[in-house]
Amino acid sequence: MLAASFKRTKIVATIGPASSSVDVLEELLLAGVNMFRLNFSHGTHEEHGAVIKLARDLSKKHDKPVAILADIQGPKIRVGSLPGDGVPFVRGHIVHFQFGAVYDETGVIPVQHDVSKYLKIGERIYLRDGQIQVEVKKIEKSLISGEILNPGLLFSNQGMNLPDTDLGGEILTPKDVADIEFAAHADTDYIALSFVQTPTDINNLRARIKKLGGDQLIIAKIETKAAVDNLDAIVAATDAVMVARGDLAIETKPEAVPSTQRRMIELARQGRKPVIVATQMLESMIQTPQPTRAEVSDVATAVLEGADAVMLSGETAMGLFPVDTVKMMKRIILYTEQDDHTEFRAPEIAHNSVNAISAAAVVLAKQLPAKVIIAETATGQTARNVSALRPGVPIIMVTNNRRAYFQMAIIWGGKSYYFDKPAEATEHVIQQLRSAGNVVIGDALVIASGHQPGITGGTNTVSVQIVQ
Ligand code: ATP
Ligand code: MG
Ligand code: MG
Repeated sequence: MLAASFKRTKIVATIGPASSSVDVLEELLLAGVNMFRLNFSHGTHEEHGAVIKLARDLSKKHDKPVAILADIQGPKIRVGSLPGDGVPFVRGHIVHFQFGAVYDETGVIPVQHDVSKYLKIGERIYLRDGQIQVEVKKIEKSLISGEILNPGLLFSNQGMNLPDTDLGGEILTPKDVADIEFAAHADTDYIALSFVQTPTDINNLRARIKKLGGDQLIIAKIETKAAVDNLDAIVAATDAVMVARGDLAIETKPEAVPSTQRRMIELARQGRKPVIVATQMLESMIQTPQPTRAEVSDVATAVLEGADAVMLSGETAMGLFPVDTVKMMKRIILYTEQDDHTEFRAPEIAHNSVNAISAAAVVLAKQLPAKVIIAETATGQTARNVSALRPGVPIIMVTNNRRAYFQMAIIWGGKSYYFDKPAEATEHVIQQLRSAGNVVIGDALVIASGHQPGITGGTNTVSVQIVQ
């Protein structure tokens, strides 16, 4: 059941050309991946569908839950077609942008969306991953004029970030709408939304998933200044959050990312929502079999700060050493968890009985002390609540809900089990823990449960059982 190398912090791996074969997927799963991420900015529905099927087959073969995340691109604004050798941006010069412009005829930089409706004078336009910076001086009809603050060379189709701008209303593109429909109907467990700005973005996505008949949970990718400003409300609206550090560094500033990350992890945990730290964690392992000291420190820091999961992007999607990277990440997680026993501050007020029962289970487990906490859970809510308190013992999460079984794979400190007969499930799990040697006669177990299995929010009982 619980391996000696049980890691509390979970691993998310992005799947791409380097990892989508059955052999590599299987190695990744056995090396410790808890969730496969499919980035819908890249690849086709057919390719993503094939990975989903392989992941489910492997999960069954090894009796190991691995969640599947569909990551939706969102409104990534790009410039249009430019001369092949690029357009030089000179400091102090004035530059013009317009939706649908033809550069060769007018010298105006074409933009793939009409952003003139949203931009205001004084706001910044970042191009080429933030290398080039422009300040808006004038907007006339759809023609935007700005002064170049940071020079550089701009090429066709490069990204445009508007860190000061409220894009207002619907942030989904037609491609996103089609991708969400695919993800909701495919066997995915989480849908991540890029460039979230407000809790309304989350609520709209939730309504859309519901209308499609999907049961996916939502991950809010925090990578805009607006999202950082609205963090409390977004954490309340979403099911989980991701610190999406790539675009976050551009939309805010690089030096703001570490302290923002730390604050986001704490806010998410206090809100009892899982939090994933993403981007460039072991970036140099795309090319070399060893990480840098700084990267090792970056992974360890996320663990020490209490992240539920750490994520790999290009390392596993297109790198030369996808499996070695996961093994390295697992080593860093295990060492850090075993070497450092930071106690995390518990949320002070429970607000409802499920939270209060979960808190009582954690206190009981510490005082007895118990070997494990067993959480019987229909939706995963009880398991998330117990996990947010970061107990010192593993959380055995038992459910008769197949979707929750997969979704719980990324919960800190947890291990999930599926049983179709809820009445016998916990007894069965205890027997398994016994035969695996995880518990012995006389050990105490704490069990959080409900009188009516399958009813959401029905957790109303905490009990102690001594292994007989
Ligand atoms: P995001 O902002 O969503 O992170 P990204 O372009 O940075 O987008 P990552 O998921 O971080 O993408 O992956 C890093 C790189 O790996 C990508 O830029 C791309 O080159 C490659 N990649 C990822 N997924 C795929 C895929 N399914 N097919 C081809 N290449 C992929
Ligand atoms: Mg991003
Ligand atoms: Mg990325």
